[in-house]
Parts: sequence; structure tokens; C-alpha cells
Amino acid sequence: MNYEKRKTVIAGNWKMNKLPSETYDYIKEIAAKTENAKCEVVACVPFVNLCKATEAAKGTHVKIGAENLHFMPNGAYTGEVSAAMLKDLGVEYVIIGHSERRQYFAETDITVNKKIAAALEAGLKPIVCVGELLEQREQGITEEIVSMQTKIAFAGIDKSAFKSIIIAYEPVWAIGTGKTATAEQAEEVCGIIRNVLCKLYDKETAEGTTIQYGGSMNAKNAKELLEKYDVDGGLIGGASLKSDDFAAIVKAAE
Ligand code: PEP
Repeated sequence: MNYEKRKTVIAGNWKMNKLPSETYDYIKEIAAKTENAKCEVVACVPFVNLCKATEAAKGTHVKIGAENLHFMPNGAYTGEVSAAMLKDLGVEYVIIGHSERRQYFAETDITVNKKIAAALEAGLKPIVCVGELLEQREQGITEEIVSMQTKIAFAGIDKSAFKSIIIAYEPVWAIGTGKTATAEQAEEVCGIIRNVLCKLYDKETAEGTTIQYGGSMNAKNAKELLEKYDVDGGLIGGASLKSDDFAAIVKAAE
């Protein structure tokens, strides 16, 4: 982390967990347990939980995010949710390109790029996920994969937008598996992403962008990961569902 240069952000990704009726109390619980947080605390929740989540977060330091959006502004897209709809609910962040969306819902680098543009246009802050599969790491092509994902994701995105953009490096083999990247692996790839930003934009943009690590981060391993210079926070799945664990990760970001 580098507090002077960029914001540290700990964001929970609830995935398809917790009922709308559990959401209000749980957000209040997180807010109370992370009251003195030195970093930004975000809860990304299912669409149907967003109303309760934004209501509960009002007057607290907790920010609310969605887990996805559609890139079209409106129209005949049955079952989809636009950026403007999320903004209208008081949502601030949105996860884009999570590996589960890529794997199970056919999202591509191209749709990720369109979604980033739509989110920014509506005034939402995208948390853009990139990361390699296990086979790709074993083939030694992590750098190529993550660089390509980053380049396509931000094609046509102006550097001025980076004050609102977060990137999450999430090695797919570490998500929900209990296998965490070592702090050195996380640092190396977060550094690679920062280098890509430097080439695409400039050093200032690269140094000022928050790059999180995500993949089985928990109360025990968070400190070691977050101590690394290029790791500016975490995107937390499983451990965000227990308020004590999530609060411990927020504490580790101090
Ligand atoms: C995630 O869903 O982005 C994630 C990192 O999950 P987990 O922490 O459970 O690996």
C-alpha cells in the first residue's frame, strides 16, 4: 500500500449470498465493526439487496457497490440492470469483469470495456477484475494475459477517468479455492498492471490508481498481502460474509 499516492480500498463481494431481509442489519454490523477504518470500506451486494444496503449505509462510512451491470443505457434487455438504475439507487461502485461473470456468463474483454464506459458515463466507480487461469500461470503467460485484459478493458477510456477506477488483480485459481497467491506473486502482478497503465497513460496515472488483490484473502493473510507496495486493498469474497473476518481485513489495511 502507499497511502500518500492512492486510496486503499477493502471491498466485499457477497456474490449470490445473503437475503435482502438480512442486508440492512449486516451493513449496520459492518459499519459498526469498521467504524475507525483508515481505508475505504465497500460492500458489493446482489441487485435485489441494493435498496436495503444503500438505506443502511446512509450516514455511515460504508459505500455500496453492485456486482455487475449492463452496458446499454436502457431498452429491451429483459432481466438486465443499467448503470443509471444503479446510480439512481445511491450505488457508488460496481464490479466489472469478475472471473465468475467471464466463466459462467460469457463476459469478454470487449463487454468489460463497454461496461466500464457505461459505468463511468453514469458516474459509477468501476472495480475492474483481471487475472489469469491456473493453466495460464503454469504456461508462464500471466503477464501477457493480464496485460491484454487491462489494455482491452481500458481501450478508449480517458486518463481523467482513473480517479474513479479501481483494478482488482484476481488470479482465477485463487478465487474461492482457499489458495492464496503469495504476497510476492500478488505484488509482481499488481506491478505488471501498474506498468501497463504507465505505458497506456503515464506514470502519474499508474502511480495514482488503486490496484487491489483478490483471491482467498482472509483475516490471517491480509496483512502480509496489504503490506506490499503495489497492493492497495482487497476484493474479498468468502471472508466478507462474516463481519468479524471482514473487519479484521479492514484493520489489517492500517
Ligand atoms: C471474489 O469473489 O472476488 C473473491 C476474491 O472471492 P474469495 O475471497 O472467496 O476468493
